[in-house]
Amino acid sequence: MKLAILSRNPHCYSSRRLRDAAESRGHKVKVLDTLKFSIDLAQGEPDLYFRSKPLSEYDAVLPRIGASITYYGTAVLRQFEQMDVFSANPSWGVANSRDKLRCLQILSKHRIGMPPTTFVRDRKDILPAIERVGGAPVVIKLIEGTQGVGVILAESNKVAEAIIETLQSTKQNVLVQKFVAESKGRDLRAFVVGDQVVAAMRRVATGNEFRSNVHRGGSTEVVDISDEAAKVAVRSAQIMGLRVAGVDMLESNEGPQVMEVNSSPGLEGIEKCTQLDIAGAIIDYIAARVDFPEVDIHQRLTVSRGYGVTEIHIPEGSDYVGRTIDESGLPDRDVNVLTLYRDTSVIPNPRLKRTLEPNDRLLCFGKLDAMRELVPEKIRKQRRPKIKDLPEETDAPATRS
Ligand code: ADP
Ligand code: MG
Repeated sequence: MKLAILSRNPHCYSSRRLRDAAESRGHKVKVLDTLKFSIDLAQGEPDLYFRSKPLSEYDAVLPRIGASITYYGTAVLRQFEQMDVFSANPSWGVANSRDKLRCLQILSKHRIGMPPTTFVRDRKDILPAIERVGGAPVVIKLIEGTQGVGVILAESNKVAEAIIETLQSTKQNVLVQKFVAESKGRDLRAFVVGDQVVAAMRRVATGNEFRSNVHRGGSTEVVDISDEAAKVAVRSAQIMGLRVAGVDMLESNEGPQVMEVNSSPGLEGIEKCTQLDIAGAIIDYIAARVDFPEVDIHQRLTVSRGYGVTEIHIPEGSDYVGRTIDESGLPDRDVNVLTLYRDTSVIPNPRLKRTLEPNDRLLCFGKLDAMRELVPEKIRKQRRPKIKDLPEETDAPATRS
């Protein structure tokens, strides 16, 4: 394959390792400076220029987009996607992961442990919000900080309130998060490639520091992460749409808690710590997936007039319980069940003869009018059940069922 690595720095450790790994496997590879692209738009003709010359054909792109150029970088990446080039990480995943609030909002809809977190604007709401996450000490975070900059531990409610007010007065958006004291300045970095954790390390803060970032003097050690933490890491990356991700977790008394998901995780720290060939794993993964460029499902599916995607819940006592999908009338009304969520499993493309059970959730594509009729009035008005009350999501059984 011919691979473009988007990076501002061709000589940094990660870029070098990825280029060498691709070359040693017989692929063609170029490291291209993200800011040297021009994006041209015309009807039916999304196009890219590199240093003002038409870009040659590429099979795949691997974005390594730094936090300072998120807007331009994701625009370039989106253009590759419009041109049907496979991207290791989709532009929407990169953009969502850059914003700590957006990342946690998306993950919170799923069964992913996270430190209780709050986001407020009005002065009067600050103290109640601090109390809701357990009161001081609390962690205050800039939404787009990296490398530990903009992550502050406030020892008292009053100090926390003052810091938040000060930051807000300079137009900075901040999160307030429960301080997970039992993690004792340590965290886990799980490196996810595809559906697997390919490497993991523990980072330990120095001295009195509570931030374990290597840029804050943290040291690293190899760790054999638990199955639970590995599952949380893979699931978080999948939900964020990222196939290459560094998932940061705290080891709390309630289990692993995700703090953030990084879409351009550095290779140097983790390869040197674990002695594993992570660059090679990334390249092998891209080579295996290169024939499946990103499809924006919503964009494609909802262009058919009157059609859309929705999730239908089957409550206890519903008329649908005990009927098969076929008997439910969904297929007759031009509604396809794409995925069935049941207990601990996710069943893609469920067969028509499968019988529906209470608490099943059906991801459906079809005529919105037909689906509206199938959602009973009282269910429509009910609030969705809390995630913690829903069955846990795990991987699909390997066979179609
Ligand atoms: P950054 O993007 O700057 O790395 P993080 O949210 O990852 O920001 O926080 C930096 C570090 O601070 C983490 O690696 C962790 O060691 C520590 N930390 C962050 N949030 C918490 C928390 N809620 N409780 C305890 N420690 C935390
Ligand atoms: Mg971090």
